[in-house]
Amino acid sequence: MIDVNRVTALGELLIDFTPSGYSDKGHGLFETNPGGAPANVLVALSNFDIQTSFIGKVGNDQFGHFLKNGLEQNKIDTTNLLFSDQVNTTLAFVHLDPTGDRSFHFYRNPGADIMLMEEDINEELIQQSEIFHFGSLSLTHEPAATATFKALEYAKKHNVMISYDPNLRIPLWDSLDRAKDMILKGLKYADIVKLSKEELVFLTGNEELEKGTEIIQSQYGCSVVFVTLGPEGCFYRSKSHSGKTSGFHVEVVDTTGAGDAFVGGALYKVLELNKHVNVLHRTELIEIVTFANAVGALATTKKGGIPSMPSKEEVEKMLLT
Ligand code: ADP
Repeated sequence: MIDVNRVTALGELLIDFTPSGYSDKGHGLFETNPGGAPANVLVALSNFDIQTSFIGKVGNDQFGHFLKNGLEQNKIDTTNLLFSDQVNTTLAFVHLDPTGDRSFHFYRNPGADIMLMEEDINEELIQQSEIFHFGSLSLTHEPAATATFKALEYAKKHNVMISYDPNLRIPLWDSLDRAKDMILKGLKYADIVKLSKEELVFLTGNEELEKGTEIIQSQYGCSVVFVTLGPEGCFYRSKSHSGKTSGFHVEVVDTTGAGDAFVGGALYKVLELNKHVNVLHRTELIEIVTFANAVGALATTKKGGIPSMPSKEEVEKMLLT
């Protein structure tokens, strides 16, 4: 058991096989990297010296051990990363098109990440966290969906702040209706939610940032809603304030992980302010999103997910310029 754990995240953990570059000649060279949004968020926090823990499941195979080592190299506690002897680690194959845009093919047949069980959830670990973060890939299949809701029940019971990035990946759901139902069910637990504009429209049917975020807040009770807008920064809404903050201008290399970096940056600032997000002043909200925009922007200046998470010094330097 670790002494002080401030943020716990639960979710998928898989290996991304990414082509070393676009080639229509099929050169067959791939880079392998640990993947999964909740783990990226923890790496962003780890880079700011926040102690974190990961809850999830991988196969007891070479891939699973590679992933555990990857988290540990990033100073994430893996005591609650479990190994399955029956099911293999989930793999994701990235397809790059000539413009550098990516799509994913998942090998999950099923994958160990969705075999997380209710009884695998460590209540004590969640109880001693200040923030519990989760995504939606663990909600796509059972038993991981039930296990995720068990973890959310523990977080609520112990008044742990809950952060949610639905991170909708349509091909992973068997139906869009089920995706919407499950994501909305997850929203009911969230104190902090980060959405993309597309997700906001999908969930609320509303194109307008003001109206859409108001629906999320009034119907699901989320204290703070962030809608990230790529290079344009982010829209934020708390119970008493809303507004837009501009993004930072950077030379973009690869946008993978920008949203996770944003979440990591936002959670870091929430911890630093040491307040529940339902009592934030406007200046504090702006401080959070400005910092998060800087972390997100810096993550686009390097390749990959985990390797692109910036250091605190890089973020501070960007905020001073
Ligand atoms: P996601 O990766 O979840 O789709 P975004 O692409 O909106 O999320 O990126 C998250 C955040 O990262 C944005 O709110 C912004 O602060 C920053 N960001 C993303 N793309 C850029 C960019 N091209 N230039 C500057 N900042 C960016």
